[in-house]
Amino acid sequence: MEKLKGRRAPLRRSLWVVGVYLLAGWLWITFSDYLAGQWFPDPETLRRVQTYKGILFVLVTALVLFLALMRQLSSDRTMLSLHHHQREEIRQLNQFRESVIERANVWINVLDPMGRVVLWNKAAEEISGYHRDEVLNSDQIWQWLYPNEDHRAKIRGCAEDILRDDGEVVGYETRITTKGGRKRLLSWNSRSLRNDEGEIVGSIAIGQDITDIREAETTIRKRERQLSTLMDNLPGMAYRCCYDEHWTMLFVSSGCRDLTGYEPDEVVNNERVSFAELIADDSKDTILRAVESAIGNAEPFSIEYTIIRKDGRRIWVWERGRAVEDNGDLVLEGIILDISDRKALEDELSELAIRDPLTGLFNRREMTRLLDEEIARAERYGRALSLLWIDFDHFKNINDDHGHAAGDSVLKATSALLADSVRSVDVIGRFGGEEFVILLPEMDRLEASETAERLRRLISETPQPLGNGNTVRLTISIGISVFPDNGTDSRALCAAADTAMYQAKSSGRNRVVLARLAQEAHNP
Ligand code: GH3
Ligand code: MG
Ligand code: MG
Repeated sequence: MEKLKGRRAPLRRSLWVVGVYLLAGWLWITFSDYLAGQWFPDPETLRRVQTYKGILFVLVTALVLFLALMRQLSSDRTMLSLHHHQREEIRQLNQFRESVIERANVWINVLDPMGRVVLWNKAAEEISGYHRDEVLNSDQIWQWLYPNEDHRAKIRGCAEDILRDDGEVVGYETRITTKGGRKRLLSWNSRSLRNDEGEIVGSIAIGQDITDIREAETTIRKRERQLSTLMDNLPGMAYRCCYDEHWTMLFVSSGCRDLTGYEPDEVVNNERVSFAELIADDSKDTILRAVESAIGNAEPFSIEYTIIRKDGRRIWVWERGRAVEDNGDLVLEGIILDISDRKALEDELSELAIRDPLTGLFNRREMTRLLDEEIARAERYGRALSLLWIDFDHFKNINDDHGHAAGDSVLKATSALLADSVRSVDVIGRFGGEEFVILLPEMDRLEASETAERLRRLISETPQPLGNGNTVRLTISIGISVFPDNGTDSRALCAAADTAMYQAKSSGRNRVVLARLAQEAHNP
């Protein structure tokens, strides 16, 4: 009611006041004159009363006028200051709109309930390519941004829901077509706008151009997928681990399963087992040294070591890695491959390279190397070392009588018997044909003679299998040389033993002969 009164037109209000005034004046004049005439019949008194009445009327109307004017003027002043205040507020609002809405780096637009553009900020112009002059007060923009009819209908439906239900949307994504024909992806936050009376007068929408972010996300996801496919198909285990005593794994590829027998989850963060626990004890130092030195020299490392799998199997692995800095911490990244097959092949090859294929004993080359090693050791510790040179007596006859295969069978059996009859520290090898050499570390002439004699007797007393169910008896001749008495290098020791063996042959075979000492050689 107050508001309606305040809104009455000034003319009507003034006419109403004048009307009231005229009515009050007419009533006053009519009734006061009549009453005065009744109460004061004396003309002289009546005249005076009339004068006072006139003065009273003027005073009362002056007072009413004064009060009315006062009220009006003070209300004018209040109105004026209110007006000033409102103007200031509007100015500040415009400034806010200018600085916040206009310069915001997000698209801001306001639509009226018909979907026509009321506000279109700079970012909206930049993203869409449409200037505000083209879009203001029109709903044409809907067609431009969403040329596809179905798509447009869906989005307009959403906008109308906001207006109808006083709703709000957050993170609603649409793909717009810009003026230049490009597609951009926008994420919208939108809600309805109300006036002071609470009526919905439109909607405001804030849009963020997420095209680049989404593209970057897609690229990252694609790369992650590629990387994980690559990791999963690697022939070993890719890893990322802490440079700590546990080699705490931060990441391991699915190859962990095949390599260690543990699931990646069981190894990452030492959940069930730390990688350090998998490393064989004798490999721990090697790894630490290799990694430390690689870090020191700022270069990658490459190591071979053994780990013990979940099933207890010991396998050889090859690891190549490098240290990288991650948020101030040193972490290691690399790959670990199972090289057990290669190692086994290598072992097999190196065994083949040092073994005689028929007897399985060391071959001549390996025997020579081992002899050099034993000589060096004997020299270093001042210990004795003896060498037996063995040749089978009349072996040609066995071949001639029973065939070459039977000869081979005898060679194998005799080699095994000899190998079984010496100490584990003794080294036995086949020098060629049916000539064998035995190294006896820490044995002097006497002990070596006893050993040789024992072997000679053993062979002569043990019939050897021909491989056809029959056996044959055979004998051996042995020459002995001793370090350092008969020489200090392998060539001299071999020559001395060989010579002694020939002496055994020439003195009747099936016997042991010690190489002569240097003074004996000079004084036969
Ligand atoms: P000696 O007592 O003088 O040593 O007579 P020997 O017949 O053993 O003569 P020698 O040592 O000179 O000959 C070695 C023979 O051993 C020659 C060869 O027929 C035979 N022989 C050498 N290597 C092999 C082999 O790998 N298999 C077989 N079956 N026989 C071999
Ligand atoms: Mg022989
Ligand atoms: Mg021979």
